[in-house]
Amino acid sequence: MSDGTPVPDCLFCKIIAREIPAEVVRETETTLAFRDIHPQAPTHVLVVPKAHHPNAAALAVAAPDQAAAILAEAGEVAAQEKIAESGYRLIFNTGAGAGQTVFHAHVHVLGGDGSLHGTL
Ligand code: C5P
Repeated sequence: MSDGTPVPDCLFCKIIAREIPAEVVRETETTLAFRDIHPQAPTHVLVVPKAHHPNAAALAVAAPDQAAAILAEAGEVAAQEKIAESGYRLIFNTGAGAGQTVFHAHVHVLGGDGSLHGTL
């Protein structure tokens, strides 16, 4: 089970430590939300736990309170970005085969584009 300890070569641990810049939109004691550098929708924000866990499933097992916290923060981001009413998607890529490229748990908050609905 992952224990949440920061990983030196983890990109998101470096963003959390402010060693790599990011456009932060929200922060709590246990979470950070920042804009994705390659946005796939008009609003594309990533919400991460500050503790390092390799993916959302591992996070949910090791620290269920923090899994709940990133979901709650995703809702707060949606409200702040004014996409809550029009609707938004939450995506957890889990594993390289599903497109996960950063192995620090994160949820993509995507919205602001009516074309987002339809495939799933
Ligand atoms: O789910 P996945 O692991 O593919 O998502 C990682 C995301 O992190 C990508 O959408 C990528 O654009 C984003 N990223 C970022 N800032 C960085 C490096 C990657 O927002 N410095």
